[in-house]
Amino acid sequence: MTEVATTPAVLILLGPPGAGKGTQARMLEEDFGLVQLSTGDLLRAAVAAGTEAGRQAKAVMEAGQLVSDSIVLAILKERMAQPDVARGVILDGFPRTDGQAAALDRLLAEAGQRVTAAISLEVDDEAMVGRVSGRFTCAGCGEGYHDEFKRPAQAGTCDRCGGHDFKRRADDNAETVRERLSAYHAQTAPLITHYDRAGVLQRIDAMGNIADIRNALAEIVKRVTA
Ligand code: AMP
Repeated sequence: MTEVATTPAVLILLGPPGAGKGTQARMLEEDFGLVQLSTGDLLRAAVAAGTEAGRQAKAVMEAGQLVSDSIVLAILKERMAQPDVARGVILDGFPRTDGQAAALDRLLAEAGQRVTAAISLEVDDEAMVGRVSGRFTCAGCGEGYHDEFKRPAQAGTCDRCGGHDFKRRADDNAETVRERLSAYHAQTAPLITHYDRAGVLQRIDAMGNIADIRNALAEIVKRVTA
């Protein structure tokens, strides 16, 4: 069995699609040297690489539904065994089901660890459809943009790396976002209670601007990792 690497902090970002988990996880990487671990990114990489797991996940992801726990847990465990995890991790988009949360608790317990904090990014559902439908990223550095809220300063050029290639996710359209929101409410939102009971839940209003949310998150991270 793959051993999970020992890590000083295990932070979970919870929230529906569009809440800003990926954006904020990247900022926490910059601010605290933590490692962003996004199961969505790992699955998209598996789809692009054409692995068996990727082949099975592709249609499920395009339909806005959840990939099976067994596939997700296998890629998560593999990633958690990498040495960079020792810097501390921000789980972005994982866990998403009761089964995944229980498996994570077990995996960490085997390494004598536990979840440091689960931070729930609280947002209004209706605003999420607009937020997700207009987003795109730089293909080079991954910087996130939005047709309405955050265009590159110079059209067609990435503010961060100067690249000219941008991409949109196949599942970032209004219809699929609604499906993803309902999967979130049915299967993932109950985890808020799981982490509340475990005494590690933090809630944050994530409807404000990106910089304010980044600051509020930084305060929480400093507090829970002190
Ligand atoms: P994300 O990038 O987190 O929005 O995830 C994109 C898609 O990947 C989701 O809509 C699911 O189909 C799949 N996915 C990502 N993470 C998980 C997970 N933890 N459990 C099940 N499916 C997932």
